[in-house]
Amino acid sequence: MNAITRGTTAQGLYKGSKGMDDRKEVLGFLRTCIDRRFVAESRHAFEQFTGLKPTDYWHESYAGGSALPPPNTIGEEYAVAHGATLLGWQAHIDVCGGIPGASNEQIERMLDQRILVMLAKYPAARHFRILASDRGIDIREVHPPQ
Ligand SMILES: [Zn+2]
Repeated sequence: MNAITRGTTAQGLYKGSKGMDDRKEVLGFLRTCIDRRFVAESRHAFEQFTGLKPTDYWHESYAGGSALPPPNTIGEEYAVAHGATLLGWQAHIDVCGGIPGASNEQIERMLDQRILVMLAKYPAARHFRILASDRGIDIREVHPPQ
């Protein structure tokens, strides 16, 4: 995704992939914990699973990630208002500094509870549950309970 490997346009100025085809732009939003062990791999998994490119989604990160309520909802609401339809909710187990003392099971439950809130808040979007751990990144699409 950089000018050196992707070359330049006919105008001589690389402007990214925007406008290179007529497909409707698909955008996303990803919320992760800041834990440096998992941010890059979580982004990669989200991109691989959804087909989004690194510049196709907004990314918000804070300690605890999607297992905790956000300090504010400006980011998620901005992204959805500007076209984000693929929403990724990441948290991780194997010790999270944002949720001191929580067990892996507690963190997973907290993530799932927060995802239920997001499913209800954004029913028209597609939602992806991302659980990072020392064993890797588990990502799956989730749906509202029947
Ligand atoms: Zn964490």
